[in-house]
Amino acid sequence: MTGTDRAGGANGPAGRGGTGGTGSTGGASVPGKPGKPGPTPVPASEPFWAAARRGELLLQRCRGCGRHQHYPRVLCAHCWSEDLEWVRAGGRARVWTYTVVHRPGHPAWAEDVPYLLAIVELAEGPRLLTNLVRVDPAEAYVGMAVRAEFAPRGDTALVRFAPDV
Ligand SMILES: [Zn+2]
Repeated sequence: MTGTDRAGGANGPAGRGGTGGTGSTGGASVPGKPGKPGPTPVPASEPFWAAARRGELLLQRCRGCGRHQHYPRVLCAHCWSEDLEWVRAGGRARVWTYTVVHRPGHPAWAEDVPYLLAIVELAEGPRLLTNLVRVDPAEAYVGMAVRAEFAPRGDTALVRFAPDV
């Protein structure tokens, strides 16, 4: 899509709903190779990324209706309450859907293919877009039990999931 744009901005593939923000890319890598764009925390998501740096998975929970949500928002997606708290999630999930990527949308991932992009359903309920790691693509399946792990990336860490053995 935007693969030839080498202008300084280096923003990654679009996030959800125009969260804005600038900078904070994957940073320097091998000269001549594109760096991997990293997460761009915004005020609503900063606690999530700060926790990931510490190796913790946090979710928002609504004090009004008691439900968890992800991605982070300023309102409860279920009842619109603003009374949200951050709680630690257990990290256990099941693969809800996945795809095997052979042609990445950004050249920085060219050497990683094939890799698994997945939506997992956390035990607490919310679903999360992520990567599956240490899974042979031929052996992935919907319903597979997986567990969160954290991969440092720049100032934060990416949340990935590996088989829960
Ligand atoms: Zn609620």
